[in-house]
Amino acid sequence: MSRFRIYPTPAQHAALLHHCAHARHIWNLALEQWSMWTRDKGPTPGYVEQSRQLTEARAAFGWLRAGSQTVQQQALRDFDHAIRNFHAGTHRRPTWRKAGLHEGFRIVGPPATRIVKLNRKWSQVLVPKVGWVRFRRSRAVPDAKSYRVTRDRAGRWHIAFAVIPKPIPAPGTGDVVGVDRGIAVSAALSTSDLLACPGWSKCEQERLKDLQRRLARCLRGSNRRRRVKAALAKLHARAADRRKDWVEKTSTDLARRFDVIRVEELRIASMTRRPKPKPDAQRPGSYLPNRRRAKAGLNRGILTNGWGDLVRRLEDKAPGRVEKVNPAYTSQTCSVCGHCAPENRENQTVFRCVVCGHRAHADVNAAVNIAAGRAVSARRETPVLVSPKREPQLATSA
Ligand SMILES: [Zn+2]
Repeated sequence: MSRFRIYPTPAQHAALLHHCAHARHIWNLALEQWSMWTRDKGPTPGYVEQSRQLTEARAAFGWLRAGSQTVQQQALRDFDHAIRNFHAGTHRRPTWRKAGLHEGFRIVGPPATRIVKLNRKWSQVLVPKVGWVRFRRSRAVPDAKSYRVTRDRAGRWHIAFAVIPKPIPAPGTGDVVGVDRGIAVSAALSTSDLLACPGWSKCEQERLKDLQRRLARCLRGSNRRRRVKAALAKLHARAADRRKDWVEKTSTDLARRFDVIRVEELRIASMTRRPKPKPDAQRPGSYLPNRRRAKAGLNRGILTNGWGDLVRRLEDKAPGRVEKVNPAYTSQTCSVCGHCAPENRENQTVFRCVVCGHRAHADVNAAVNIAAGRAVSARRETPVLVSPKREPQLATSA
């Protein structure tokens, strides 16, 4: 993906929003059709059938005909893609598209290639039924056959050209690095570098709390609520931009410096899912505390540190050079003598081996173990076979 910020005029802004609304409407209709599947009825219409229905609908309804056919057609194609991903098990069930939240559409084919360079910094692209929209050329525009226009919650418009960038070549030095991801330190390298993903500053956290409180007091649908929401979105966008910037720079740096990058295999999706409710055996209908709020705090830590993003981007930039290591006991095992005991861990940050006396930052010690690919169980040499049906467990309780 190669993304640029676009700056539409007020009239173009309205036209772009119209495209987004059409794409969203078509997506939601397709989702509605798909969700009506039951065992006794036949299969729900697929992409080809839905496209045919779209053509019929365009003939019948003037407002649909007024929109761009490419935008509507591509919404169906996107939905088809989402269904495929869902059935392949790589993605979750497609969800409803919501105004203000999922604003975007896709343009493919010859219309997607009409790009004109204006001057040193600006270019323009001809968006069907919208006109020439200016965008800031912050890098070379790739030769792409399709692009996607999106609007984020902070109201910024972007255009992303669909190209797969070339992977970063390995340095060829044979160097291996282990990356341990944590809450206190975002990433510790086996080279004893500690990397911190920028999160919220103290001042921003206070402003966040303040805005959230203010939002709770606003009347639904009021102008004030809209303004507070916009301010909140801006704050979130700033934090997300910072995190993304860190992920991109860190992943590029690691891919350039090391031949093999070993990371711990963590299933963030299952770790960040909300804990199960615990029914109270004594009083039917009521529940025991399940530390949900505590876990929510941890989830926030995991997500703000951009764990998943970093590994995903590493795999994009250095395909075949990222190895996943079972993280069991990497934090308790001494990276010098291999002694594994929970007592080795003096506290959250300090590691001291009770046998050889090796002392190190706990996360760096874990990173060295990960770099060595050392992931043995305390009880047995081979990893424990776990039934795929079993609930995923945290590493230390395996
Ligand atoms: Zn030791």
